[in-house]
Amino acid sequence: MSNSIHGKVVVITGASSGLGEATARHLASEGAKLVLGARRLDRLQALAGELGLPAAAAVETDVTDAEQVKRLVDAAVAAHGRIDVILNNAGLMPHSPLERGKIADWDRMIDVNLKGVLYGIAAALPHMTRQKSGHIINVSSVAGHKVRPGSAVYAATKAAVRMLSEGLRQEVKPYNIRTTIISPGAVPTELPDSITEPDVAKGIHDFYEQFALPAESFASMVAFAMSQPEDVDINEILFRPTR
Ligand code: NDP
Repeated sequence: MSNSIHGKVVVITGASSGLGEATARHLASEGAKLVLGARRLDRLQALAGELGLPAAAAVETDVTDAEQVKRLVDAAVAAHGRIDVILNNAGLMPHSPLERGKIADWDRMIDVNLKGVLYGIAAALPHMTRQKSGHIINVSSVAGHKVRPGSAVYAATKAAVRMLSEGLRQEVKPYNIRTTIISPGAVPTELPDSITEPDVAKGIHDFYEQFALPAESFASMVAFAMSQPEDVDINEILFRPTR
């Protein structure tokens, strides 16, 4: 694997909007070979077309289904012969106080934010261990460091992603695989749209209006971690709006 981004084969989950989409744009501009996953295939196809990627670069993927995530990763290896990076980015954030008992929202967060990341690891590791190179980038959050009222389940999934990533880091050293956790602060994306409680959604929208950073801030963190020399493993990045 070279130091630069150019030519690296990168799989991105949750590439149909927000941080994943912004990262796809950034990495495409630096010459990465991208394979994009999400459920909204029309959005992926439009993005792939805009970035000049082959049609096969857009793969309809629900990360709650391990087989679909495997198919996404295998599509990258079939097309390019290898996978250099997986960005396990798909996620949702339906905040609510626990007393409201939004069990369906809790289940979705665990399935997408935690199990989806696990399935990405499961799909990429066989290729990366065989290659003896690779880079697994998992998206956590400031909420993975700090819990607030209303964010308990989301924060729990994001803290779990950090713990999982640290365990992974230690296990994959023999295979020359790098692991990075990126914990963004507020970025205005479609993420608050996943909130099912109107009063909670309003509070989050108001907060984002005041404090949010552009999605490109996240994309440049991904690019930074990817473009380090191969013997440098950026394990964790936590960033927030300066304000
Ligand atoms: P968006 O809602 O804009 O994007 C979320 C992406 O995840 C979409 O592409 C969506 O695609 C995808 N997704 C959701 N569910 C599934 C699923 N079951 N299978 C596959 N893909 C899925 O939000 P962001 O870009 O902000 O979120 C990206 C990541 O960043 C998340 O993990 C989030 O928790 C994290 N994050 C975001 C912050 C922010 O302020 N924006 C702050 C901290 C962390 P589709 O619906 O087409 O499947």
